[in-house]
Amino acid sequence: MPKLLKCPKCGYSRSWVLRRDHRRCKSCRAEWSPCTRFLVRGMRLNRDHWKTIIGAFLDLETIRAVADRCHVSFVTAHSAVTIIRSVMTNDAPTSFTGICEADETYIGGAWKNKAIHIRRQGSKRGRGTNKQCVFGIVCRAAQQARVWLVPNAQRRTLIPIIRSQVKVGSSVFTDGHKAYRILPKYGYVHEWVDHDAGEFVRGDVHTQTMDGFWGLLKTHLDSIGGIKRKNASYFVGEYLWRYNFRHLTRGEKINRIIDLLARIGGR
Ligand SMILES: [Zn+2]
Repeated sequence: MPKLLKCPKCGYSRSWVLRRDHRRCKSCRAEWSPCTRFLVRGMRLNRDHWKTIIGAFLDLETIRAVADRCHVSFVTAHSAVTIIRSVMTNDAPTSFTGICEADETYIGGAWKNKAIHIRRQGSKRGRGTNKQCVFGIVCRAAQQARVWLVPNAQRRTLIPIIRSQVKVGSSVFTDGHKAYRILPKYGYVHEWVDHDAGEFVRGDVHTQTMDGFWGLLKTHLDSIGGIKRKNASYFVGEYLWRYNFRHLTRGEKINRIIDLLARIGGR
């Protein structure tokens, strides 16, 4: 027996065909589209289209190259890539346990490359700058990371994120930033190295995994070029996804994104 197509507005399962892929509900008379051929609502791309686009996107192609390879327009390729970036951003690991490293950094290009009127406004390096603050946690056992764009590096911003992401009882390794020193109160084992005193590694205690991740992230963002601050989360999310799922094969990566798209597309 065929699956009954239900109206997305009222859930009534009787409708008639208006034209290809368009139906009208018999109850509320709304026009809707079953879109069984298309993975994501609003995009006239079937599964094979999406697979080609995701493949090209994973090869770090430009939007123009994605459009050429998949025989779609630039605008379509751009929307598709934006959708892929947004599902990647939402596909982050939810819970860390064991030894974790937490650190924060600032993204947004080197000062020497900024326009003179921006440089004249004056700012500083490190904490207190007006660049975008990014906070990250990496789990050493799972070799996965998660990153948040945060307004500042204060205790009331960072501690709730750690508490929501890292299981109580885990070890959290950080630098000497004072905001982290409250962690033992919330049931974490907190060890830190004093970067200001030139101490970067003390046995197992270091934030080198996180620092390495920041280096890779910044190199990647530099390779894209100037990005708007409001879009930064998508680019960071994309890079994070690539990092977290780097051990998957190409086919597994494509299938994972297809599944995510199908979920948000409601198929
Ligand atoms: Zn209806």
